[in-house]
Amino acid sequence: MPELPEVEVTARALAQRLDGCTVEAVRIHDFRLRWPVPRRLAAQLAGRRIEHIGRRGKYLLWHMGEGVLLSHLGMSGSWRIHEAAALPPRQRHDHVELVCDGAVARFNDPRRFGALLWHAREHGDVLAHPLLAGLGIEPFDRSFGGDWLWQATRGRRTSIKQVLLAGTTVVGVGNIYATESLHRARIDPRAEAGGSTLRDFSSVQGVAGRYTDFALAYDRAGLPCARCGTPIRRLVQGQRATYYCPRCQRR
Ligand SMILES: [Zn+2]
Repeated sequence: MPELPEVEVTARALAQRLDGCTVEAVRIHDFRLRWPVPRRLAAQLAGRRIEHIGRRGKYLLWHMGEGVLLSHLGMSGSWRIHEAAALPPRQRHDHVELVCDGAVARFNDPRRFGALLWHAREHGDVLAHPLLAGLGIEPFDRSFGGDWLWQATRGRRTSIKQVLLAGTTVVGVGNIYATESLHRARIDPRAEAGGSTLRDFSSVQGVAGRYTDFALAYDRAGLPCARCGTPIRRLVQGQRATYYCPRCQRR
C-alpha cells in the first residue's frame, strides 16, 4: 500500500511536470474506483489550468482555480507521466488519463481502491472536505514533535500504536513506521496513548529510512533486538501485526 512518503514523492513528481499546465482532455476508461469517478469529470476539468499539485495526508490535491481534484492511491494506485509524443500503449488497469500540454498523466490501479473526485470551490475550502476535515497534523509540520503529540494524546485510552495508525492525531504513519517509531522510542505498542511514557516520544523526531531496509523491529519476530539482544516479539493489535522488544519497550 502506498505510504505517505510515496504519496509525497508522487505529488512532487506531478507538480514538477504539470504545475502551470492546462488540461486539454480527460479520458476515463473505467469509472469503477473506490467511489465512481464523476460522470462529468472530463467536462469539469477540460480547459482548466493546474495551479499546483500538493498533498494533504494521502490525498493528492490538484488545485485548479475553480476547484480541486482529489486523488487517492488507495491500495495499489499510481500515477505515471508520459510525454504525449512518445506515449507507450495503455497498460491494463490504466483507468484515467489527463492530457496536459504535451504530457499524459495516467492513473493505474489494479485493485481499484483509489479515488478521483472533484471539489468545486463554491463548496468551500477543500481542507473542510469530509475526507480531509478529520485528518491529523502533517508529520512534517513545523509544530509537530514530541511536545505536540504529548498534548494531543492526553486523556486518550487507546493504545499508542492504534492512535498513531488512526491518522486522526498525525497523518501518514503506517504500520511499519508506527512499529519502528515505538521501538526507537522504547514504548510498548500496547501502552495507552495517554500514559506517562509518551514523554519519550520526542526521540521519534529524526527517524528516517526506507521501509524495511532499516527496520529494527518490523518483521523481525524471534530475531535479536539491536539494543539489548532480547528476541523481538510479534503481536496483533487491531488486526495489524506489530513487533516490539519486551525488554526495552515499556508501557
Ligand atoms: Zn531490546
